[in-house]
Amino acid sequence: MSDDPRRRIPRTDTLLADPRFAAAAERHGRDRVRAAITTAQEAARSGEIAPEDVAGQALSRMPAAPSSLRRVINATGVVVHTNLGRAPLSEAAVEAVAAAAGYTDVEFDLATGARARRGAAALDALLERVPEAGSALVVNNGAAALVLATTALAQGKEVVVSRGELIEIGDGFRLPELIASTGARLREVGTTNRTHLRDYAEAVGPDTGCILKAHPSNFAMTGFTSGVGVDELSTLGAPVVADIGSGLLAPEPTLPAEPDARTWLREGASIVTASGDKLLGGPQAGIVLGDAAIVERLRRHPLARALRVDKLTLAALEATVAGPTPPVLRAIRATANDVAHRTRRIAEALGTDVVEVDGRVGGGGAPGIPLSGMAIALPAAVAERLRLGTPPVVARVADGRCLVDLRCVPEPDDDALLDALRAALG
Ligand SMILES: *Cc1c(COP(=O)(O)O)cnc(C)c1O
Repeated sequence: MSDDPRRRIPRTDTLLADPRFAAAAERHGRDRVRAAITTAQEAARSGEIAPEDVAGQALSRMPAAPSSLRRVINATGVVVHTNLGRAPLSEAAVEAVAAAAGYTDVEFDLATGARARRGAAALDALLERVPEAGSALVVNNGAAALVLATTALAQGKEVVVSRGELIEIGDGFRLPELIASTGARLREVGTTNRTHLRDYAEAVGPDTGCILKAHPSNFAMTGFTSGVGVDELSTLGAPVVADIGSGLLAPEPTLPAEPDARTWLREGASIVTASGDKLLGGPQAGIVLGDAAIVERLRRHPLARALRVDKLTLAALEATVAGPTPPVLRAIRATANDVAHRTRRIAEALGTDVVEVDGRVGGGGAPGIPLSGMAIALPAAVAERLRLGTPPVVARVADGRCLVDLRCVPEPDDDALLDALRAALG
């Protein structure tokens, strides 16, 4: 009995006193370190590992980083990839987030020592880019902006909206249900494929809280269709809430069909709402821009407090809006030529083929708009090995091939990508 190997399993307290575990506890917290030790001790108790290996096993089970979210290389060619966290932040925004992580003057005037308007710099940066707007507000995401707008303007009243714009955003969330949840009544007008100005005009009346114009960002209709523009809707006498979705502040020549804040405000929208982490290329946020009195009504609504953003979002948003072209727009503007040299270099190093493929905007934006580009073509089975590698590489599987598209890969990651491809192929 005395030579039972289980008696040689090191005790938790002994391990915690070991400087390697003390350092790990400093980095990951004592609970995580204890959990790793317990798992390794159990493995030794069941005979899976030797008692002498408990310390090593426990250390190897420690998370490599403080958060379990892992950085991945997006080689899908889909720029705003919802499952991969939508927009990657610019270097400027990352720096801003790190700087804002401690105590900051987010709501404090250092000159006077008094309380200041929260996040004023981010709002000013937005207004600088969108001079048509009298005021700006930032909330948690695009859906929150829409909920706040319809609640503040149309609770107990009607939201007039075209049947052609009753979209499902994704993950089962539907615009009509979202609006109904605010206590506003939906007044649907027109048909799926055609809605005319007279349809809206007949519906607008004393019960109207607002007219909603929603950009159907994730699908496109062709054929016998017609809709009514913001310019015409703004003549009907009710506030027009225009949901542009993707968050372009100004027209983007590479995406001519995508609406933008400046154009729709100029056409007469009372306010526009948008996401911060789609084509705007910033953090998750909901942007409201437009008529100062209406934005103030939203800001003063009790719900606004429940939807407000934190200092990290404000910092990242300001740096994105005021800073250099964010990675999302650079990736969208990249031509096949722009990535050709990098793609060929990697393909030649691997001895594999390069094929022409189209990238996508993604994230429910610019459906069906191909972004012409190229990719390294590999056997489909490589995709799984790439996902399970370090760093994980997410490629696109299509037509029985694994396509590695460099459109969304930052150039400094090229060598890491090449190493990951070699490992997955080897
Ligand atoms: C994406 C989108 C939303 C939702 O925005 P989130 O930021 O995802 O909450 C709402 N409306 C439209 C038109 C969109 O494209």
